[in-house]
Amino acid sequence: MFFELVVFLLGASLGSFLMVWAERGSFLRAVTGRSMCAHCKTTLPPLHLVPVLSWLGLRGRCGYCKRSISLAYPLFEAGLGLALALLWVSLIGPDATLADAHAWSVFARDVFFTLSLALLFLFDLRRGLLPDRITLPAIVIALVWNLLLGKDVGDLLWGMLLVGGFFLIQYLVSKGRWVGGGDIRMGALMGAMLGLVGGIQALFVAYIVGAVVALILLAEGRATKKTALPFGTFLAVAGYIVLVWGEELLALVF
Ligand SMILES: [Zn+2]
Repeated sequence: MFFELVVFLLGASLGSFLMVWAERGSFLRAVTGRSMCAHCKTTLPPLHLVPVLSWLGLRGRCGYCKRSISLAYPLFEAGLGLALALLWVSLIGPDATLADAHAWSVFARDVFFTLSLALLFLFDLRRGLLPDRITLPAIVIALVWNLLLGKDVGDLLWGMLLVGGFFLIQYLVSKGRWVGGGDIRMGALMGAMLGLVGGIQALFVAYIVGAVVALILLAEGRATKKTALPFGTFLAVAGYIVLVWGEELLALVF
């Protein structure tokens, strides 16, 4: 349990950092600025910045002005912590000394994939953007890493072409009204990470997740039929699901 807990806390801390990154819009501004309350602008001491625990300890309020802090923060932090802990459990297992070099490099790759997807999730959700400065380097790193792990280059390129092309066609047909250019790059990223079959799976899962979320929002009256939902957000979640359960999902269908 010890290592799982360490990975969870590490994931939660990274989640906290990614939220600051997405909020401030750039990595540089995330590492340089000091964290302050959005309402009273008080600079927050480290004890108020511990992921998940600070929010619980302060009962979801700023320690100074007592204004409430969104539940989204601890939820995202805990979510990313769990996501990384799950990778650890499934790839490294209970005895880390038994994991070989290949298992470690797959684990490291999947952690990188998950963090990239988490960042894109936040950017699309909060800003409606999938910035090139995140998607493009992620595509290159994903391709190289997968090739080093012995993946078939054709499979990865076909995945990029097909999933990226799926969005490119929509982009061209609608003249950029249905999807943005960022979606095309994110589609290509799915292919570079997951290959052809995985990329297509991610598309399906994203539509299912998106439909479920849309139905919930409609039922709660928090969205109308015209509300545009950020598709990159769903694609990011779907990418993680396929990364972890891709083979199980495939076995379910075939
Ligand atoms: Zn405050």
